[in-house]
Amino acid sequence: MPELPEVETVRRGLEPAMVGHVITHADVRRPDLRWPLPEGMASRLTGARVLNLRRRSKYILADLSSSESLLIHLGMSGRMVISGEAPGHFFQPIVPMEKHDHVVLDMDGGARITFNDARRFGAMDLVATASADAHPLLVALGPEPLGNVFDETYLVTALRGRKTPIKSALLDQKLVAGLGNIYVCEVLHRAGIAPTRRSDRIAAARVAALVPAIRTVLTEAIAAGGSSLRDHRQANGDLGYFQHSFRVYGRAGQPCLRPGCGGTIRRIVQAGRSTFYCPACQR
Ligand SMILES: [Zn+2]
Repeated sequence: MPELPEVETVRRGLEPAMVGHVITHADVRRPDLRWPLPEGMASRLTGARVLNLRRRSKYILADLSSSESLLIHLGMSGRMVISGEAPGHFFQPIVPMEKHDHVVLDMDGGARITFNDARRFGAMDLVATASADAHPLLVALGPEPLGNVFDETYLVTALRGRKTPIKSALLDQKLVAGLGNIYVCEVLHRAGIAPTRRSDRIAAARVAALVPAIRTVLTEAIAAGGSSLRDHRQANGDLGYFQHSFRVYGRAGQPCLRPGCGGTIRRIVQAGRSTFYCPACQR
């Protein structure tokens, strides 16, 4: 499942192909993805100019000149493929439709944006831009981890009285938006906090240290995504994960990468999800 950095990378990849350009043709090739697609979606998109492309948590929002915003969620397997005469970093010649190409947008700049999703856990919706934040998928989301609201005071307060393990707390999208399993493991290793530790039993100073850890891990992953974007000229926009940057995730049995630690990364299961951590330096 793409996490915040991957979604941000896709947003940045789409930006030069979409922003400032008019959707000259929209092809909506099935009535639903995870949920039904909006009524009259193709005609509502056609002729609209994309004014802005922004991200909220793991959602991309294209603000349109029609005063509506196209909300895009990649889900488990959704891909945005850019083809044609697209400006920007990743594109390929226009290719014949593939089986799981569900929504196709032709831009007046010559780019074709194709949403391909084999498993159809992805979603698209059209919502009035002015009330986009009230969309059912967005309304309950907590602050952005890279935004100004999310700071040390906020996190210390939010974790007070929480009896759940810190890993579960950080995965709670109401507490902070967009953190998923992989990057929470990375963040807790960076901060030296055991994923099993009860949230309300972590000293305030250590909780505060989570904030820069979260910002650093996400910022580095976004930067890695940016460099992979440049390497994907030949690829189809499916940027995937930036495996090389993981310090604990998927590294069970391998040595801890914290200088001087000497520990071995362990895998446990919490709430049905894999957790990777170093028992030696995460307390
Ligand atoms: Zn360690």
